[in-house]
Amino acid sequence: MAKKEERICSFCGDEIKPSAVLLNGLYAEICEECIMQANRILNELKAEKTKRQRLEADNFKLEKKPKEIKTYLDQYVIGQEETKKVLSVAVYNHYKRIDYYAKKQKSDVEIDKSNIILLGETGTGKTLLASTIAKMIDVPFCIADATVFTQAGYVGEDVESILSRLLQNADYNVPKAERGIVFIDEIDKIARAVDNPSITRDVSGEGVQQALLKLLEGSIVNVPPEGGRKHPEQKFIQINTRNILFIAGGAFDGIEKKIATRLNTNIIGFKKQDMGIDKGNFLKHVAHQDLKNFGLIPEICGRFPVITHLNPLDKDDLKEILLKPKNALLKQYTKLFEMDNIKLDFDKTAVDYIANKAIELKLGARGLRSIIEHIMTDAMFELNVVGGKLTITENYAREKSLEIV
Ligand code: ADP
Repeated sequence: MAKKEERICSFCGDEIKPSAVLLNGLYAEICEECIMQANRILNELKAEKTKRQRLEADNFKLEKKPKEIKTYLDQYVIGQEETKKVLSVAVYNHYKRIDYYAKKQKSDVEIDKSNIILLGETGTGKTLLASTIAKMIDVPFCIADATVFTQAGYVGEDVESILSRLLQNADYNVPKAERGIVFIDEIDKIARAVDNPSITRDVSGEGVQQALLKLLEGSIVNVPPEGGRKHPEQKFIQINTRNILFIAGGAFDGIEKKIATRLNTNIIGFKKQDMGIDKGNFLKHVAHQDLKNFGLIPEICGRFPVITHLNPLDKDDLKEILLKPKNALLKQYTKLFEMDNIKLDFDKTAVDYIANKAIELKLGARGLRSIIEHIMTDAMFELNVVGGKLTITENYAREKSLEIV
């Protein structure tokens, strides 16, 4: 009878017992002992990597002071002076607080988190402010639109998927994600229907606010790494939200009325005619009470201790936005043309025209980009300019943007 062929482990070279479990590949057989050892080594390497990442995260320190943060923001964000100031202080305090807890200082003083809520019309710079800050301090950042979330059990995305995006942007480095910044856009759209008490099941409103609360409270959340809807067979990554800074933004259409009503009640209460109220801009006086009256649940309001507002942008602001920021729109187009050896200029009348058009569109600075794109498309297509110089005048701009209404 022929002798059975001896089987050798391709890793350790030992003989593999006939009864042993083995990994049988096309070119190799690996014995049970080697598999287990490889598993141990892998786990050790993973633990070491997490430890290293945690240490890096703990050593993270925001070097800039609030004034320096604001100076940085000034390079990118026009106007909104008060907001930039409030935001600089809140962000500075946030990272100081992380440092405080990382050093595990022996003190019975609990420092609360300074999540921020930004109120302002569309296109006034809410997202720009949040993303510019994240870029400056070099932390992972993500934008989540509150309107896509629904409470568990309904069609839509789970609130936890906000953190999936943050994790992806942190290259799945959990400790890094745990000190990132999340911008929740359109938070006003998940306000509960305060004026409609007959709605008993408010899928898109209160339920989502409750789910969001869990993230804001600073808890350990099971996050589906790929985002979307959670399902039972899925592997989760645990993220502690205690040190994540949440910045929420919303237009809060109609909140002025609620602010005015509250202020009016106060004035009557104090029997005063005027208490320095700016009637042209009620947003200036916004308080937590107004957010509650608008339909945010009190617990959510409590988790956003810092409230600030953005002013509507006027024509001069829009002109400045076109010309001044480090990456101003007109600078970007000039650069693009320069790469084709064309010297592009926008004369004053054209800049005036573009700003006026954006005001007409009521999209804040958000409208500027599409207006310029309309104006420049033909020139960018032809790239055929006499003398290598193209000056955009009001007439040229008007002619090319006739269809924008
Ligand atoms: P929103 O307030 O709706 O979040 P964004 O921050 O998304 O508005 O603004 C849209 C675009 O408009 C930005 O990418 C930026 O180019 C421009 N923009 C808006 N506000 C400002 C501002 N205050 N300064 C400079 N650019 C701005």
